[in-house]
Amino acid sequence: MRTILVSNRLPMTVSVDDGQIAITPSTGGLATGLRGPHQKNGGLWVGWPGDVSNVGPDQRESLDQRLVEQRAVPLHLTDEEHERYYQGFANGVLWPLFHYLLDKVALESRDFEVYRSVNERFADTVAERYRAGDLIWVHDYQLMLLPAMLRERLPDARIGFFLHIPFPSSEVFRILPWRTPILEGLLGADVIGFHTLTYMRHFAGSLLRTLGLESQVDRLTYQGRAIRLGAFPMGVDADSFATMADSVDVLAATDTIRKEANDRKILLGVDRLDYTKGLPRRLLAFKRFLERRPDLCDKVRFIQVAVPSREGIGPYEALRRQVDELLGHINGRFGTAAAVPVHYLYRTFSQTELAAMYRAADVMVITPLRDGMNLVAKEYCACRTDDDGVLILSEFAGASAELGEAIRVNPYDIDQLSLAYEQALEMKPAERATRMRALRQRVQNNSVHRWVRCFLEMLTETPEGTPGTRSSFTPKAIMNRIIEDVGSAAGLHVFLDYDGTLMPFVSAPELAAPDDELRALLVSLVARPGTRAHMVSGRRKDDLERWFGDLGMGLYAEHGLWLKPPGEDWVSLTEPIVSWKEKVRTIMEEFLDRVPGSFIEDKTAAVVWHYRDAEPEFAAHQAKELRTDLTAVLSNVPVEVLQGDRIIEVRMHGVHKGAIVQRILAEQPGAVILALGDDRTDEDMFAALPPEGYGIHVGPQPSKARYNLRDAVAARAFLRRLLGTGVPALALIPTNPLSLTSESPFRARLSGFQSFNC
Ligand code: UDP
Repeated sequence: MRTILVSNRLPMTVSVDDGQIAITPSTGGLATGLRGPHQKNGGLWVGWPGDVSNVGPDQRESLDQRLVEQRAVPLHLTDEEHERYYQGFANGVLWPLFHYLLDKVALESRDFEVYRSVNERFADTVAERYRAGDLIWVHDYQLMLLPAMLRERLPDARIGFFLHIPFPSSEVFRILPWRTPILEGLLGADVIGFHTLTYMRHFAGSLLRTLGLESQVDRLTYQGRAIRLGAFPMGVDADSFATMADSVDVLAATDTIRKEANDRKILLGVDRLDYTKGLPRRLLAFKRFLERRPDLCDKVRFIQVAVPSREGIGPYEALRRQVDELLGHINGRFGTAAAVPVHYLYRTFSQTELAAMYRAADVMVITPLRDGMNLVAKEYCACRTDDDGVLILSEFAGASAELGEAIRVNPYDIDQLSLAYEQALEMKPAERATRMRALRQRVQNNSVHRWVRCFLEMLTETPEGTPGTRSSFTPKAIMNRIIEDVGSAAGLHVFLDYDGTLMPFVSAPELAAPDDELRALLVSLVARPGTRAHMVSGRRKDDLERWFGDLGMGLYAEHGLWLKPPGEDWVSLTEPIVSWKEKVRTIMEEFLDRVPGSFIEDKTAAVVWHYRDAEPEFAAHQAKELRTDLTAVLSNVPVEVLQGDRIIEVRMHGVHKGAIVQRILAEQPGAVILALGDDRTDEDMFAALPPEGYGIHVGPQPSKARYNLRDAVAARAFLRRLLGTGVPALALIPTNPLSLTSESPFRARLSGFQSFNC
């Protein structure tokens, strides 16, 4: 199986030396980890090759050709695209917001459209290269719209997405003005991976709050597809780091660093110079430590590597100035003629140079304010084959979920941090060894290779609930066959649920009045020769009367407790027993007080608690409690407790939509029945259908119905197509009790609609 990897950057750097193009492979963790799938079975990697403006126009073709030979598919970005998609939206909006640094979010961004269009370009490039059976693995926050764009172009492809940065709490995520397209973009994937379970839970919370989409721990269904969520903590190539750290060259370099420190204990920080990494507070904590322990001033050295990053951009320039000032202050105050306490190295080091520093450091200080994972922490542990060294780690780094033996700190708490330096420097060798052994073992077990394997395994698995198929909606060809089959039936009964089936849900039930298009559609259906239309709803009879009373349909309210044949009065099909209602209402009223935004609906033989507009997570939790309470209290009462779409309904036992179907079949044994419904109460209707009946479920949830359509829009389109077929008027079926005859007063009233073009 071939894998197409997609990331903003290709894992290689292009440079021009003396007119010659050089392509250097990256050594970063991601590139190392993904080398396997990239090289296996002719895999591809699609991404931006970096700024190649110094490659002359005559050399461009040969550059691209050489990249293609390395199975890299270059997607060149214009300066404007790079500026607005990458710097403007990805780094100016998504990066700070996802790291909870709201004051750094660009005040006003007009770059989303460019972000979208660059994602489209990626989608086109991947779709051009795609071959049936390929796996597509998209990486990171620059490409969050890409999964859905690929799904549109390649409905059957297996698409994975991994987010390398944190996913923030829904309370923060919902600030994002583009929250809906971003979530919908990700939902194009089959597997969405995060570094930690916390990020995964935050994502699920955002789906619920923003899109109203519920997930079951690690899976959800969206537009008929099963989507898996997973926590895959990314690791490092631990064996390579261990081998490198034990090499003669690295050990010699380690010695040099130690000798130069002149017996001082070494604290080490290695970060990109990014405002998420917590450098200013880390330095302030070091200053406080020096103030508190003047005896140690000459016995410690803090080496801080700061890799230049996103230079020239406002918040990064401000950070650089702030760090420079703090360094000047600390070194000026605590330095001597012989040495300064902080050695600040503002440049990039090779991995072997870093390995030597890791080996030399008594204490590794990693204190990001937020960090998706932090690989430096893991590299440090992997290099300490001598079982020495202490790791201080921010509790807000993803790595902290795994590395429990580190000294974990709140990077905002400068006092605690300064005490952690002391604790680390004074830790006894035996404790250091115990902690480091455990840390190294963990880092070795959760290597980058395992990360790749686990993610691709999940992506390769067939999603549950859709065995062997990528879309569980019934193909149009089959739906058209149903239309052909029922189109010529002489006695066709069409049972229609209303809310969720013909009409999307709205927050207040009274706002869901039918639009003109729907009313016209129903009028045509009623007028269709040989057809009887029935509206079968859980609503009260006054709603149905007001909206459909003049259309000539059979109306059923409260799941069939009430019946209204066209032109007649409402009758109840069974004697309502309601002695239990008061008790139910009392219990529900308690939940009404607890859950703001919820309300109670009173029907003849049912009471409903609605919570569509309430805070989703809290309300879902309370709904579970309410169901438990009701079930316990009502165990000997002839009622049913039903969970619907954001409602809990208690209704009289034996009244359900299935009974309506049975009634019609008893009257007309040969009737052809077509039933459309979307929720739990419609399942009774589907269950009551004869084997030759047609049950169509509307929506992505599992159902007893044999066929299913995506949503109310698809349901209406299906009915319109049905109206394009018909039987001669002669085949009109007998009337009693619900049908409309040519003599009916309603027929005359409706005749004007007969030529309506649906
Ligand atoms: N790194 C490097 N040279 C340096 C400093 C860092 O190669 O001078 C590497 C380091 O080994 C690590 C990566 O950069 O693999 C930093 O990854 P991390 O997850 O810690 O932070 P990020 O920069 O991705 O936010």
